[in-house]
Amino acid sequence: MSISRFALAFVLFLPLMALAQVPAMDAATPKLDHFDPNLVDKSISPCDDFYKYACDKWITANPIPADEVYWSTGSGLERWNDNVLRETMEAASKDDPKRTPVQQKIGDYWAACMDESGIEAAGLKPLQLELDRIAALKSKAEITLEIAHLHHLFPGAWEGSDNQTNAPFFGFSGGQDYDDATKVVGQIDQGGLSLPSRDYYLNTDEKSVETLKKYRAHIEKMFMLAGETEAQASSDADTVLALETALAKPQMDNVKRRDPKNINNKFTLAQLRELTPHIQWEVYLKAVNAPASDHYIVSSPEFFRAEDKLLADEPLGKWQTYMRWQLISRAAPYLTKAMDSENFDFFAKTLAGQQEQLPRWRRCTHWADRDLGEALGQAYVDRAFPPESKARTLEMVHAIENAMHGDIESVSWMTPATKEQALAKLKGIEDKIGYPSHWRDYTPVKITRTSLLGNVEQASSFEFERWVAKIGKPVDRTEWTMTPPTINAYYDPQLNTINFPAGILQPPFFEKNMDDSVNYGAIGMVIGHELTHGFDDQGRKFDAKGNLRDWWTAEDAKQYDERGKCISDEYTQDVPDAGPGVKQNGLLTQGEDTADNGGIHLALLALAADLQRQGKSLNDKGPDGWTELQRFFLAHAYSWCSNIRPEITRLIVTTNPHSMPVFRVDNVESNMPEFAQAFGCKAGQRMVRANACRVW
Ligand SMILES: [Zn+2]
Repeated sequence: MSISRFALAFVLFLPLMALAQVPAMDAATPKLDHFDPNLVDKSISPCDDFYKYACDKWITANPIPADEVYWSTGSGLERWNDNVLRETMEAASKDDPKRTPVQQKIGDYWAACMDESGIEAAGLKPLQLELDRIAALKSKAEITLEIAHLHHLFPGAWEGSDNQTNAPFFGFSGGQDYDDATKVVGQIDQGGLSLPSRDYYLNTDEKSVETLKKYRAHIEKMFMLAGETEAQASSDADTVLALETALAKPQMDNVKRRDPKNINNKFTLAQLRELTPHIQWEVYLKAVNAPASDHYIVSSPEFFRAEDKLLADEPLGKWQTYMRWQLISRAAPYLTKAMDSENFDFFAKTLAGQQEQLPRWRRCTHWADRDLGEALGQAYVDRAFPPESKARTLEMVHAIENAMHGDIESVSWMTPATKEQALAKLKGIEDKIGYPSHWRDYTPVKITRTSLLGNVEQASSFEFERWVAKIGKPVDRTEWTMTPPTINAYYDPQLNTINFPAGILQPPFFEKNMDDSVNYGAIGMVIGHELTHGFDDQGRKFDAKGNLRDWWTAEDAKQYDERGKCISDEYTQDVPDAGPGVKQNGLLTQGEDTADNGGIHLALLALAADLQRQGKSLNDKGPDGWTELQRFFLAHAYSWCSNIRPEITRLIVTTNPHSMPVFRVDNVESNMPEFAQAFGCKAGQRMVRANACRVW
């Protein structure tokens, strides 16, 4: 539940937001961006605006394609990765009895997904059985069983999707216990919403009110597309909006959720029954095949109290409308063009600013990666991640871990007692590079050539039950929560692991033939970032074994908080070009910002040590005239060059714990004396911060 991800922030949203139409296969091989220091804009001073200096030329030359909400130096890689998956699936898609079981699944998934005329001809038929189930409910007592059924059906109801707040009614999964990381227990999370966060329902500024109005109109249109009269659809839209708003109010906000203490609320089954007498937990747990749990963790008891009261007060008919909405809205991307387009129009265009749908083939690769990721991932690794890449990455990881060891020993504000614990935690971190040591077995997932929606439901059901089945069993430390082609990375505080999928170990983040300065500035910073997560304001609350345990002396904790506050104050700032009132919330992004600053600091220490071993120094000039230190900072900035639509910016600052790319460069570099030294910046210039922050 509390996994911290490095995240090109937006990547987390695209699978939810980007949904459907117009195929037009573009067969051109996508182009990867490679670091090029000649791209800097010498008319700008690096000491005034480093992000502009390093990125402006790239930004001008690379406008956002109409079917994207942002475009960055990593975007070419995303297309390239998609293309690898597409070639793999296409090759497996011929209905050949000689295919392996893995080829049958990925090939038939592809065939069903690309068959748009078949999907059109089927109309709403694939959904009918589900609509009938909801219509047949005779009493509120039957709602619990239907919730369990809905939780199987769609991505969003399970932990791996990173989107628990969006499960219908609430989220349920198995997860490590906060107090004893060797145990897997049932975890119950707030949920029930369709919009990205509670703020979308509750904020009263003009923009939010207008968005909510558009959401209401969207619900109405969708009900009409599902066959309702205008009058009925209008009244149903009111019902849905009223219920979702009522569920949004008692939700814990995303800043409060960052403190694991706030969500670590233990309940026995008897206490759970008392908390929510209108949810029949025995019925639910049996229907989702949940093994007995030592106890349950309820993220937000307040939410459940309010939801239970709503279940008691509102009539069955209204809940049937709500469930019908949840079903239609979640299934829309996999249904007819009319449904898919209307869904795109609101969730992607209005909320995120995407102008056109992605080509069909790219959507199919994204869904297949989500649904059968480790089946597809094997082919991706064979093609894109040679053993040399793994070996070189692992060397960098070890060098950065050594740097952190030295850094912890040398910080002035920590007492020896806390340092000892921090070093034990660092020593306990497990490094995972590229892909899992064994591949997930998808045998129970039945994939056919005839129903995309059916395939999505099969895969979702498998994934949901896979997490639930972990309850009461020993922890599997080998599992990954990202697929191999993912351009991202994460630290898991309860497993105490850092994880770098093969998808990000590619240009422009990592090149096996590039010099150290560039690799450390780009992927080295990412490695340092994940490592620092173990010691950010969330991560520091977990010990080496992954238990939520306070290992800090009171004085050291106080010292830490002061440094953390420096970061959260510094990052609370206006977002340029995103419209009035759009502000980064430093309290929401504090962990990621701490990891960004610590990450680059550690990467630089490791680079300096590596160069020294080779008899070189950071101030050596390369053949292109740049020093090693300058190349390090330029490569860091280059990996973040981005164009971003204002709509998605608003969405990110409200819901995403990562700062905008411009801050991930300018704030970080302006906190570093090494940066000022690299480019000869002087006190008083914008990139030399008078009150520089430093945690790690
Ligand atoms: Zn992170």
